[in-house]
Amino acid sequence: MKTGSLKAGIKSLAGSLLYHARFFDLVLKRIGSTRYLVLMYHRILPASEQGRLHQEGMYVTTDTFERHLEFLKRHFRLGSVQDLVGVENPAPERQRPLCILTFDDGWSDFYDYAYPLLQRHEVPALVFLPTDYIGTGRRFWSESLRRLFEGAVTAGRQAELVAMVKRRFPGLPLGEDVAAVLEALTVHLKSCSAEETASLLRSLEGVAVPATPPPDFLTWEQVHEMRASGLVSFGSHSCSHRMLTSLGAGEVRSELSDSRDQLRAHGVVGDEVAFCFPNGNYDDTGVALLSEEGYACAFTTRYGWNPVTADRYRLNRVGLHQDVARSDGLLVYRLLYPLIMRR
Ligand SMILES: [Zn+2]
Repeated sequence: MKTGSLKAGIKSLAGSLLYHARFFDLVLKRIGSTRYLVLMYHRILPASEQGRLHQEGMYVTTDTFERHLEFLKRHFRLGSVQDLVGVENPAPERQRPLCILTFDDGWSDFYDYAYPLLQRHEVPALVFLPTDYIGTGRRFWSESLRRLFEGAVTAGRQAELVAMVKRRFPGLPLGEDVAAVLEALTVHLKSCSAEETASLLRSLEGVAVPATPPPDFLTWEQVHEMRASGLVSFGSHSCSHRMLTSLGAGEVRSELSDSRDQLRAHGVVGDEVAFCFPNGNYDDTGVALLSEEGYACAFTTRYGWNPVTADRYRLNRVGLHQDVARSDGLLVYRLLYPLIMRR
């Protein structure tokens, strides 16, 4: 057994024991409405996509997601961002903690797989849109890279691709198998310039030209339809999805104001607009500008629950993805950990 799966097995077992010993219920009862939970999802994919080199941290399968919905409905008040109004004054009676589901990036699989399940279980969700990508065929560079790797595997040319990457980044610990190389390369490229990344992608296309798949992101029609259902609301994830901390103040301001104006022009947000930091990176400048631009709140990727008095521009979330939440035991462990460790 690999160390990773052994660790996951232990966490899953610990989570199951804590759940069956009713420890989880007791903790939630104690929390009541003094803290709330915001969950972070990215993609919801059918199990058939699992072999296709998707980053573990980016998806849960449809089966896992439906199990999450059933579990969450049993233990939480599932609400929307509007439920944060007045949350600082917890109800005197013990309520179940509030939980808000958020989805980053506006992937088209949200419409195909998550939305029907949310409707079936009547669970609200908040989706953050990077407006430059919605309704276009544009892709994140990380997804273009993944598709190149997937194409090379399909063509039986993965060894060639891996060798090429290793020649280009001789000092980088890339690992051996194709999934490990892709993972390490994706992490490394986050700190490279857009030009460097684009040049690498062009050179890898010499090994494997990917097929032209359908667009990765939602269309505005899908956004309108889901908004009209009253179940799904939307917020800004900037325009370009660049990390705000890598931009000058002027550029940050345009990312904030232009994305908000686009969402308003499409009629998919009200007066109060929520923001989500691309890649989770934020600093004081970004926070000050968000407040100046009139945003209602902003979500980070920092792992934790939120006390009701939390700074609205630096809200914690608990990220859920297949490798950390594929069983109820793992899910319980994932939700309890920041409470027990006081994060
Ligand atoms: Zn994102």
